[in-house]
Amino acid sequence: MSQSQELALVPLDVVDPEILRHLGTAIAKALTLPVKILPPKPLPVRTYHVTRNQYYSTQLLEYLLECADHDGLYRVLGITSVDLYIPIFTFVFGEAQLDGKAALISTYRPRGEASGVRAPHSVLIKRLLKLSLHELGHTFSLPHCRQEGCLMGFAANLEQLDKKNLEFCNYCRIMLADYYSRNSL
Ligand SMILES: [Zn+2]
Ligand SMILES: [Zn+2]
Repeated sequence: MSQSQELALVPLDVVDPEILRHLGTAIAKALTLPVKILPPKPLPVRTYHVTRNQYYSTQLLEYLLECADHDGLYRVLGITSVDLYIPIFTFVFGEAQLDGKAALISTYRPRGEASGVRAPHSVLIKRLLKLSLHELGHTFSLPHCRQEGCLMGFAANLEQLDKKNLEFCNYCRIMLADYYSRNSL
């Protein structure tokens, strides 16, 4: 496997280093790709929406893509602790480009910030790992999946996210293996 097929975790502003280390190790194992953690990048002010008090996910994804192209990275997963939105939704857990380079997740909702009930660390890590693998799955061309419990299922809230397994279903696993073989990973 060449260096160019490395996946980079990019903290956008401040993210707990322990979370980054944990996710990096687990993602490398689950996707069998080398993962490196990059130094934090600032959150671009232009992506902030004042009245919503949230950051525009799609614009952050474009920003990540610029960074990825600039640094010659194979995949980037941005992680931020701010709340994300796209105009048609109140919030999003994350976003990714289908068969693209960039994916993004937020720790804000998984941490329980919106409800005021802080999630225990183990719950938070599990949620973030599910979100990371789901969004990265999109970058490997996986669409949403209706198979019960599959990681590629769409989750609109924490309850649905918690119900998902920490695994791709057999069908998604085959699709992923096919993507890997076509792209010699
Ligand atoms: Zn999705
Ligand atoms: Zn599936």
